[in-house]
Amino acid sequence: MSAMDSLPVVVIGAGPVGLAAAAHLHERGLPFLVLEAGDAAGSAVRQWGHVRVFSPWRYDIDPAARRLLDDAGWVGPDPDALPTGAELAADYLQPLAELPQLKPHLRYGTRVEAISRLGLDRLRTAGRDTTPFLVRLTDGQEVLARAVIDASGTWGTPNVLGASGLPARGETDAAAYLEHALPDVLGADRDRFAGRHTLVVGAGHSAANTLLSLADLATEHPGTEVTWAIRTTSPARTYGGGDADALPARGALGSRLRAHVDAGRIRLLTGFAVHTLTPTGDDRVTVVVRHGDGSEESLTVDRIVAATGFRPDHSIAGELRLDLDPVMGATRALAPLIDPNEHSCGTVPPHGVAELAHPEVGYYAVGMKSYGRAPTFLMATGYEQVRSVVAALAGDWTAARDVQLDLPETGVCNSNPDDSATGDSCCGPTPATEPTSRGLATGITGGLLAAPPNLVTLDAAPADTQAGGCCGS
Ligand SMILES: Cc1cc2nc3c(=O)[nH]c(=O)nc-3n(C[C@H](O)[C@H](O)[C@H](O)COP(=O)(O)OP(=O)(O)OC[C@H]3O[C@@H](n4cnc5c(N)ncnc54)[C@H](O)[C@@H]3O)c2cc1C
Repeated sequence: MSAMDSLPVVVIGAGPVGLAAAAHLHERGLPFLVLEAGDAAGSAVRQWGHVRVFSPWRYDIDPAARRLLDDAGWVGPDPDALPTGAELAADYLQPLAELPQLKPHLRYGTRVEAISRLGLDRLRTAGRDTTPFLVRLTDGQEVLARAVIDASGTWGTPNVLGASGLPARGETDAAAYLEHALPDVLGADRDRFAGRHTLVVGAGHSAANTLLSLADLATEHPGTEVTWAIRTTSPARTYGGGDADALPARGALGSRLRAHVDAGRIRLLTGFAVHTLTPTGDDRVTVVVRHGDGSEESLTVDRIVAATGFRPDHSIAGELRLDLDPVMGATRALAPLIDPNEHSCGTVPPHGVAELAHPEVGYYAVGMKSYGRAPTFLMATGYEQVRSVVAALAGDWTAARDVQLDLPETGVCNSNPDDSATGDSCCGPTPATEPTSRGLATGITGGLLAAPPNLVTLDAAPADTQAGGCCGS
């Protein structure tokens, strides 16, 4: 046994995928340590605890985790029920993390700041693969590891509002008016929205969820106004497949949203590219939209919900040798398999250690983070990833290579590859299909434009026959 073999595999993050990795590591008899920045298992999931997921329980539980839980006498939830994030955490992740096989190996309130090789910077090659990883924590402590499974997700790094992928001008100064995706509009955060005008930016399911909650709030609180802005020309893909959607809960979300837009309860602005945010001085914020021809329009609101998707933070692995796809921020082997221009979550082919490997031997980003900017991730995919990665770490290459996935068929996120230039997709902003708008927005000021953002009232928006999205974010 080498010195490396006595070191733990460090798992970063105790979300669904990090905990699944822990369960597989336990089954394989490999020493492990899970480092979680939050104060509980599923810390990110708890932050969207009020949101109900689209995948029934049968797809949300890792098989190795289930074996451990079943052995402990756990009574599992109805496999066909759809949990909220809070239920996912309370009824599955928490009991899993409390198991005696896992609990002693979990550290909460422990944020990883950086990963390197002990005594080697990125330039040094000799002996690299047999040198322990050095995992530095934000409190200055350091942990040595034989391998690192990075399941730290993307929840902490949302995309910016600015249309070019850079923060909009003034975005930082306007932070007091901005909301992270999925505020609890009907619960804890109600007071920030009741009787006020909220602009929701984004075309994924996070946006749809928030818009529906705001529409409900508006029925209880007169004066609550809801405006929805998307960069593209049509909301058709956010509306999704309606009754034809393979995940019924997701289809219903799109249909309800469309009904609110049709009825004028939600004002929809298309072609909306945020350029500048300026606080007005009377507790409101003005959003300036700039068009390709340089013309501008503006809209003043009380709150802005940025539901613009997420991106991975690879900076903690900056001293490792990563080989990332320049578009997706996933490994080069994985990127074409998860491209939202080609795939929905249900059509992602099985993949595991082979597709997740970097030049840095022993470092694997898994789970939501492994998909980079692609919003097509499903927990079930992540569970198969970590089964394969852990099998490889245990030296069982037959099992590691035998990747299988049994996913719900969820259609194709974007059947129109021409939309890829927008960078929009399922759970983030959504690609346009065809213009369907008519009528100019009221409340928008500024010059008349060649392609102004439109207030659309859809008479009969073309239903996208494909499912519109995946992860629900
Ligand atoms: C609203 C919403 C709905 C979704 N619905 C579905 C669905 O229906 N079906 C489905 O399959 N998937 C769904 N997803 C997608 C995905 O499955 C979830 O986001 C899932 O939580 C991803 O799991 P994860 O373990 O990869 O990441 P996360 O759950 O994000 O967990 C990452 C963990 O790492 C911790 N962490 C982060 N940085 C550090 C650090 N530096 N050091 C230590 N710890 C760190 C975080 O605190 C967090 O606990 C949904 C996502 C969202 C946001």
